[in-house]
Amino acid sequence: MLHDNLSVNAAGHLTVNGADTVELAEKYGTPLYLLDEDRVRAKCRTYLRAMKEYFGPESHPLYASKALSFKGIYKIASEEGMSVDVVSPGELYIALAAGFDAGNIYFHGNAKTMDDIRFAIDSGLGYFVCDNETELRRISDYAVEKGIRQKILLRLTPGIDPHTFDAVNTGKVDSKFGSAITTGQAEAITKLAMDMPGIELRGFHCHIGSQIFDEKPFCDAADLMMTFLVMLRDKYGFTASTLNLGGGIGVRYTEADPYIDIDSTLKLIGAHLHKICDENNFPMPQVLMEPGRSLVADAGVTIYTIQNIKNIPGFKSYTAIDGGMPDNPRYALYGSRYTVLLANRADEAAEVPFTVAGRCCESGDLIGENMLLPKDPKVGDYLAVLVTGAYNYAMASNYNCIPRPPIVMIADGKDTLAVRRETYADLMGCHN
Ligand SMILES: *Cc1c(COP(=O)(O)O)cnc(C)c1O
Repeated sequence: MLHDNLSVNAAGHLTVNGADTVELAEKYGTPLYLLDEDRVRAKCRTYLRAMKEYFGPESHPLYASKALSFKGIYKIASEEGMSVDVVSPGELYIALAAGFDAGNIYFHGNAKTMDDIRFAIDSGLGYFVCDNETELRRISDYAVEKGIRQKILLRLTPGIDPHTFDAVNTGKVDSKFGSAITTGQAEAITKLAMDMPGIELRGFHCHIGSQIFDEKPFCDAADLMMTFLVMLRDKYGFTASTLNLGGGIGVRYTEADPYIDIDSTLKLIGAHLHKICDENNFPMPQVLMEPGRSLVADAGVTIYTIQNIKNIPGFKSYTAIDGGMPDNPRYALYGSRYTVLLANRADEAAEVPFTVAGRCCESGDLIGENMLLPKDPKVGDYLAVLVTGAYNYAMASNYNCIPRPPIVMIADGKDTLAVRRETYADLMGCHN
C-alpha cells in the first residue's frame, strides 16, 4: 500500500488506521472524507522533535492550516503544541473559535485589508508575516493606535525555482508574494520596518514552492536568506532572530512519487544552516517551517460510490462517482495525480484503466485518467481516492449546488464526526 496506515482486512476491505472504510461509508454515506488523526499527530511530533533537535530549542514547525482548515484540526494542533499559520481572517476566526492561542498564530497573505489587520491585532495575534509596504504601514499605524509594537516577519522572495509546477511556485522573483532580495526591495522594506514605531521586526520568511522532495531547495533558500541576514548585520547592525523557511515538503500521491523522510531531510537542512552560521560567525536563528500538505495529505482518504460505468468502444472506459471537483478540484486545477482503488474489493489486482469522472456538468470534472481498477467495477462499489487530506476539503466548493461531504476522524480505532455533511438547507443559508 502507498502508505503504512492503509491496509486490507480479511473481508478484502480497505482500512485506514485500522478502521474498515466500507463500514464507515455505510455509516456516514458518501462522498466521505476520512482523516487518520493518529497519523496527523505523529507527523506533528516528528516535526516538533526534529526541528528542536536539528535547529535549536526555540525552533518549531507551524501547521500551514490552509491545507485543511476546520475546528478540530486546530484543536489537534494546539494539543500537540504546534503553532499555526493562517492566510485569511476566516482561518484566524476558526482557529480562535477552536480555542487556539492567538499568540502562536502567524498571519500570512499578500492583500490583507485594514479590517483583517484590526481583527488580528484586536485578537492578540502573535505575528504577521508582512508582505508589502502598504501592509507594513497599516500594521504599524494600528499598533501605535493600540499602544503596542506588533511582532512581524517580512516575507521575501529569494528567487528560487524548486522545479515544481509553475502554478504552485511562489519563491521566484516574479511573484505576487513578498519582496525580492535581488531587486533591492527586500532591503528597502527592511529599513522601513526597522524604524517603524508600531513594528517589532523579528525576522524573515520565504516559501519557495510545493511538492519538494529533498533538502536541496531549502538549503539553497537558506543560503540566500542567510546572505541577506549577514548583510543586514554588517551594514545596519541588525541581527534577525527568526528565519522561516516556509512549507512545501512533498507528499507521495502515487507509486511514481518519491518517498521523503522528514527527520533526515530536516537533519540535512539543520546541518547546512549551522555550517553557514559558523562560517559567518552568525548566531543560529530560531528556525520555523510551515508544513501543510506534509502534515495532513496522506492522513486523508475520500470514499465515493460508483454510480455508473460507461465503455466507449475504441476509446475508453469511464466510471462516474457521486462526488468530484466540488470536493476535490485538484485534477481540474493542476492535473494532479492520485491513486484510486475499490474500497470493498481492495484485495483484487488493479489491471483495467478507467477515467474516473465526477458528477458535475463540466467535462474537466475528473479525478484522473488511466487509473487502474480491478476488472469489472460495479455500480455501488466504493471507490477510494488516497492522499486527499490536503487541499481537498480546504478547496471544496458548492459548485452545481452540491453539499460538501463530512469529515470523519479516526483515532485509536474510533471514528468521530468532525464536520457534518452539508444539507440542502445549508446551501441556502445566506440567501434572502
Ligand atoms: C501554502 C503555504 C504553505 C504550505 O505549503 P505545503 O506545500 O502545503 O506544505 C506554507 N507557507 C505558506 C506561506 C504557504 O502559502
